[in-house]
Amino acid sequence: MGGLAPCRVIRSLNIAPFMTIPSSNTTEDKKADQKPEQVKSSAPTPMMAQYLKIKEVHPGYLLFYRMGDFYELFFDDAVEASSALDIALTKRGKHLGDDIAMCGVPVHAADAYLERLIRQGFKVAVCEQVEDPAEAKKRGAKSVVAREVVRLVTPGTLTEDTLLDARAHNFLLALAASGGRDEDAQWAIAWLDMSTGDFFCSETSLAQLGADLARLMPGEVLVSDRLLGSGPLDEALRSSNSTVTPLPSVKFNSTSGQARLMAAFNVGTLEGFGTFTRSELAAGGALIDYVELTQKGNTPLLKPMKSTGANALMAIDAPTRSSLELIRTQTGSKQGSLLSVIDQTITSAGARELAGRLSGPLCDPTAINRRLDAVSLFIEERTLRNDLRDLLKTAPDIARALSRLTVGRGGPRDLAAICAGLARAAETAEAVRKVERPLVDLAEELAQSLSELGDQDEALCALGRELTAALAKDLPLLIRDGGFIAPGYNADLDDIRTLRDESRQVIAGLQRDYQKQSEISSLKIKHNNVLGYFIDVTAAHGDKLLKGPLSETFIHRQTLANAVRFTTTELSELASKITNASGRAIALEVEIFERLLSAVKESAVALTDTAQALAVFDVSAALAQLAEQARWCRPQVDEDQSFEIEGGRHPVVEQALARSGEGAFVANDCRLSSADNDPEARRLWLVTGPNMAGKSTFLRQNALIAILAQMGSYVPATRAHIGIVDRLFSRVGAADDLARGRSTFMVEMVETAAILNQATPKSLVILDEIGRGTATFDGLSIAWATVEHLHEVNACRSLFATHYHELTALASKLDHLSNVTMKVKEWQGDVVFLHEVVPGA
Ligand code: ATP
Repeated sequence: MGGLAPCRVIRSLNIAPFMTIPSSNTTEDKKADQKPEQVKSSAPTPMMAQYLKIKEVHPGYLLFYRMGDFYELFFDDAVEASSALDIALTKRGKHLGDDIAMCGVPVHAADAYLERLIRQGFKVAVCEQVEDPAEAKKRGAKSVVAREVVRLVTPGTLTEDTLLDARAHNFLLALAASGGRDEDAQWAIAWLDMSTGDFFCSETSLAQLGADLARLMPGEVLVSDRLLGSGPLDEALRSSNSTVTPLPSVKFNSTSGQARLMAAFNVGTLEGFGTFTRSELAAGGALIDYVELTQKGNTPLLKPMKSTGANALMAIDAPTRSSLELIRTQTGSKQGSLLSVIDQTITSAGARELAGRLSGPLCDPTAINRRLDAVSLFIEERTLRNDLRDLLKTAPDIARALSRLTVGRGGPRDLAAICAGLARAAETAEAVRKVERPLVDLAEELAQSLSELGDQDEALCALGRELTAALAKDLPLLIRDGGFIAPGYNADLDDIRTLRDESRQVIAGLQRDYQKQSEISSLKIKHNNVLGYFIDVTAAHGDKLLKGPLSETFIHRQTLANAVRFTTTELSELASKITNASGRAIALEVEIFERLLSAVKESAVALTDTAQALAVFDVSAALAQLAEQARWCRPQVDEDQSFEIEGGRHPVVEQALARSGEGAFVANDCRLSSADNDPEARRLWLVTGPNMAGKSTFLRQNALIAILAQMGSYVPATRAHIGIVDRLFSRVGAADDLARGRSTFMVEMVETAAILNQATPKSLVILDEIGRGTATFDGLSIAWATVEHLHEVNACRSLFATHYHELTALASKLDHLSNVTMKVKEWQGDVVFLHEVVPGA
């Protein structure tokens, strides 16, 4: 793993004496592995030689080496994994005179172990047996079963439901720079979610990188080793908590990146997808290369790479995100975050779309209003909304099922998910069409989604019909279990199954015959993996069949302490018929599965659009539901520089108060305007008031309202007019970051400097108690200078909460500054907080 990977402490070896030691069940391996003379000479056994060769080309990965029903790990891998997974560490043979450490996990439970390893920042190479052990045996006793690494499992390339959070994206991100590695270089990021196929890129800068990583929260970041070791980059990567994978710089070549992208999308030019900078091509190409490397040829379906444009989203840096607790609270929990309060989506895809919108509010009023129109429509059309939300309850996760199918990890249930998804899409389109209002009135956002659902081409409809006819009701998880093709779909399969089932009935009849013939009523025909079908009688009855006339029919197979086992010619023939039929049935089902799979792959693009359209319907209906229930209003969003909120509330605090029954939330207005022609306009509010009066709540609620409005949601207010906010800053003073070796004062200074350097007249700045990290007089000076700078130089809209009463004197000096205070009153010697914002100091 790279030097920047999250630090893992290797715990002391935990050897659990009661655990069974997993061992190989491949006889060939055992033979090949246990040659005493080789142990003495210290030369590796043939199996160990194969292991070492494979391990050598996968440095940095724990090698899951398949041996029969187990994945075994050896040497340091075993020591690390046994400690990380808390499983027994044992040993197996010797290498160069030393014991070989070993531990193993059963194949059937491997996903759970993989999940734990990946969460701890490990990467795993899965090495499978790629030939039948019987084939190896034919080559001689010393031969080892051929093995190959079939997949590299890394935090950014997961597709399994068990390894993923259904309601969150899992991005793999690559970072590239051309023209150096500092501020002046041209930086870009590209990111994709292998489990859904989403693929984007964007230009960025060294300064903005931290904000990008905080927004996308990638599971894994690919970076050229050439770039590492520069302070700001390392710092941004460390703060992101992502697994960092350093790669050689040749992987980030823009020319080969372009070629890789063209090959991946099978196009002669990328022009159809937009224009990309050299760095974007380099980053996108590195992603494709890594996906191909880790998936070993099973390339997932990816949507064409789309550039999001550098200024398309409201810039929110990492400290602001964390202070506003958008997706997670500062303690890392989802509960209590803004997302947890606003998420009323039904489907996982809807939840991912909502989280994406909340993380990246837009800056284009037209696009924002398109989203708001969709929400408005669902507020007006309540029946449609309810019907739709009912439908979505049974809508599966099409995108993730499709991704598993395309990388060859899908099963019958994934086909069923596609089938059910298509049905829900058709029903959704039908429900929307039934609405009385003319379709031209339909919100543009929904109209587009509807056309994606409704205009399903004949191929998609045919696919839906085919899957419905083909799939059985109860589906196994794995293809090899068989039984997933419905009766009546394929005549050959029906015939084979009849033969198999009838033979089973014949066996039951045979048992009755033999019971009569032998007069042993306890005689049974049983089955096991070693003998296949056999006749079983208790030891007391054994002689009856071994001797006398019946011994001509009953052929002895086995004598156990309590039972004697036989077969007959008739039973053997029937047994082989059944075995053949079962084998043929499964082979035919696998063939049908492959056929259905290629039909699904052919419609992959249309299926992705369908999935996205359903997600948009889900999010729009969910936001409408929220707006209606919580009495939110539609914000007016445009290009001017207003920030006028009437009756604004903090959605999280309001919900918490309602739940605890502690009384109602007091709504407050906020009017910041930088219009120069308005003498009343004040763009900077200085908020004073005692502790616990509600200053922080007031500040943050306004930041949240701006975010909600620009993500295309209604907002917790009675009226809101918001001129686009290009950058949002929120800082709460007096928070230290000792983990990064910075004192309270240092954090405050660095972050305040970042704001003063970056805020534009279109920005919104929320500063809470800046200057408290140092002595009173110094603190006051810092706060004073900050207010003056924000007012004079940045000229942005700001809310500044402070304990320094002295600052209120600035109102007489600064034209665009207003003093407001939190109202309190005294009641029988106690202070009562009214949580009301009123003019004055
Ligand atoms: P401090 O200066 O100590 O940080 P503060 O003035 O910033 O205090 P807040 O932390 O915003 O105060 O609010 C304190 C508590 O008051 C909140 O947890 C909330 O329960 C309650 N509160 C704040 N604003 C309101 C409001 N508008 N309506 C009702 N309750 C409120």
